[in-house]
Amino acid sequence: MSATAPAPDARVHDVVGVGIGPFNLGLAALAAPLDLDTVFLDRAAAFRWHPGMMLEGATIQVPFLADLVTMADPTSPYSFLAWLKATGRLYAFYIRESFYPLRAEYDAYCRWVADQLPALRWGRTVTSVEVDPHDADLYVVHARTAAGVESYRTRHVVLGVGTQPVVPVALRGLDGPVVHSADYLTHRGALRAAASVTVVGSGQSAAEVYRDLLEATGPGGPRLDWVTRSPRFFPMEYTKLTLEMTSPEYTDHFHALPGDVRDRLTREQRHLYKGISADLVDDIYDALYRKSATGPVPTTLLTGTEVLGATWDGERYTLRLRHATGVEHERTTDALVLATGYAAQVPDVVLGIAHRLAWDDRGRLDVARDYSVDGGRRRVFVQNGEEHTHGLTAPDLGFGPWRSSAILAAVCGREIYPREQRIAFQEFGVPTGTHPAPAGTVRAAGAVALADEAHP
Ligand SMILES: Cc1cc2nc3c(=O)[nH]c(=O)nc-3n(C[C@H](O)[C@H](O)[C@H](O)COP(=O)(O)OP(=O)(O)OC[C@H]3O[C@@H](n4cnc5c(N)ncnc54)[C@H](O)[C@@H]3O)c2cc1C
Repeated sequence: MSATAPAPDARVHDVVGVGIGPFNLGLAALAAPLDLDTVFLDRAAAFRWHPGMMLEGATIQVPFLADLVTMADPTSPYSFLAWLKATGRLYAFYIRESFYPLRAEYDAYCRWVADQLPALRWGRTVTSVEVDPHDADLYVVHARTAAGVESYRTRHVVLGVGTQPVVPVALRGLDGPVVHSADYLTHRGALRAAASVTVVGSGQSAAEVYRDLLEATGPGGPRLDWVTRSPRFFPMEYTKLTLEMTSPEYTDHFHALPGDVRDRLTREQRHLYKGISADLVDDIYDALYRKSATGPVPTTLLTGTEVLGATWDGERYTLRLRHATGVEHERTTDALVLATGYAAQVPDVVLGIAHRLAWDDRGRLDVARDYSVDGGRRRVFVQNGEEHTHGLTAPDLGFGPWRSSAILAAVCGREIYPREQRIAFQEFGVPTGTHPAPAGTVRAAGAVALADEAHP
């Protein structure tokens, strides 16, 4: 059924949010006390946070203060602490003395918030966003439901469609038991019953899946291989001066850099948040140590190894691998788990308004510092689609409330939730008030190296 534009007198919303993951859910919660007419649409039947990786005992990688609202409004009734109180878990959490909630708690907390927000509409797949034919300052968001098509007129659109699982080109289109880690729990039983399983990937999800399958290795359990291109199983960096990079001023600095420098930094900085929590790395080691006490552990951990391709012969895969030394070799396995990450994509729904949006020379949305993507009109915004322009704060749950506050300030035309502009002790760019060195005073390039050698 084609989407017809609503009548010119149809209700106009202030904000329509596309997608209700943690980031747009946070925006909805922060907008709830305001005199705003908002609607948030999601194709899912209800909020469920990464159900395929809801492993027992897994925690979120950020402190509980990185909930949907607290960093913007510590008095919000939608905070994680409020949920603990409402569910009778506050004292237990207090005694547990860990900053890091269980992933299952975070999911339950988000659903508790979602259940209180009438602006959320589930079972709505947004199919397109168009300029309102009756008013060029407005947009129309069309959504498919089980009953047909709904259309919403709005002044502002916030795209919070999240990221999509990435499957490397060499491993696309494979038949047989290959799953992305996003669907791990759905296939856990079959994987644990397989004669052999290979996990491909270097991050937290790869480590969690490997750790979970490791418990099943041994008599009757699978042979387990873990293959990663990375030179080592590197831990997520969690030192405090590095954590200062998840800050407004580092985002200012990053956003102001030339595009190619941003792209290089994004590649270089991946290990900061795409590594493995150090506890889990050690837990895996300890599990291997414990298991090896009763005999060889049927597992191989391969670093510096790229998967060039795979073939399925109806019974098992033959993986073509290349080691960092350039040596190519093959391994067979009965099942594959691709813990190969996620990536933001420009949602197809915006194609209808592409002419209104700002694009960079690589066809990506050129996201302004205030998260708008419409060339300064400040009517269309993204959440967690701006890693290439804003850096590592994009997927960070802890930075969600700051971004939502920026979007609400643009929507309301005034600051609603005060936003810290400086939180770090360190400077990220050239400090302001620095006197530029007069031309020609810099010594030969080697000078810098000298300094380093002086203080290795
Ligand atoms: C397993 C896992 C664990 C993570 N743990 C952490 C952590 O501990 N700390 C941290 O800082 N970050 C973490 N992240 C990273 C990140 O915070 C999460 O991915 C987070 O869920 C991103 O939220 P989001 O709102 O951008 O999108 P998502 O959670 O991906 O939600 C997007 C929503 O948009 C909906 N949608 C998409 N397209 C449409 C459409 N056309 N119409 C309607 N609805 C649509 C989807 O149904 C979905 O509900 C984790 C990521 C993963 C995969």
